[in-house]
Amino acid sequence: MKVTYLGTASGIATRTRNQNAILLESSGRYLLLDGGEPLSIPLIRRDICCDRIDGMVISHMHPDHCGTLPQLLATFIIQHKKTPFTVYLPSEGVEPFKIFLRAVYTAEPIVNFPLRLLPIPEQGPAAIGDFRMSFLRNNHLKGAAAAMKASSPGCRGESYSTELFCEGKRIIYSGDVASCLDLLPLFDKPVDLLMCEMAHFAPEDFLELTAKIRPGVTAFSHFHPKFDVHPELLLKDVFDHYPGRVIFSRDGTSFDI
Ligand SMILES: [Zn+2]
Repeated sequence: MKVTYLGTASGIATRTRNQNAILLESSGRYLLLDGGEPLSIPLIRRDICCDRIDGMVISHMHPDHCGTLPQLLATFIIQHKKTPFTVYLPSEGVEPFKIFLRAVYTAEPIVNFPLRLLPIPEQGPAAIGDFRMSFLRNNHLKGAAAAMKASSPGCRGESYSTELFCEGKRIIYSGDVASCLDLLPLFDKPVDLLMCEMAHFAPEDFLELTAKIRPGVTAFSHFHPKFDVHPELLLKDVFDHYPGRVIFSRDGTSFDI
């Protein structure tokens, strides 16, 4: 399985980092994890065939994770995509997205490939192509949902971390969290790859998270602006004696697991 970081910044892009987006490849098929801006552009520039992209997981409804979906679908239309595209997204975003896609003329029948926008199941498995997955609700949007409760009762603060299985590997994708300790329930079994954000917790907390189970590989991305230029230097003290392999991703970082 191959992991490619298309974007590694957090809320806004920086001089060298696009917003958060990750591309997973298994047996020539692709799955996207989140989509900040830009998303179509790095796919086009890598000659990724749209018919090989089976779907996308949107961890929560912040624009740096879901904002590019309409343009991605518009790109697929122009590229004459024929194969199905499945999107798992928070249930609070499904109907608003469908309405918005109709408003920007990016819905059936203009979308002429099978498009499924499905609510993330809080219990039970899901699958896109060869990737099986389940989801863990985290606390990233708890404060935002409380602030918007009166004016926007439809905002339920749904934010998820994702557990993926592919090619016999167990992979955890944090999405955005309130603290990396939100991930603790997923650390009950060995982890082959942890893809973790680095914007919403103290790096030292990470050592607490991985005290009992250390991921085979940990790849950080979605960097807080303070870590933008040289995360490997700024976080050296924390990870100097960390026994697992640690990757401080940049846009274009790609590796096999
Ligand atoms: Zn984010």
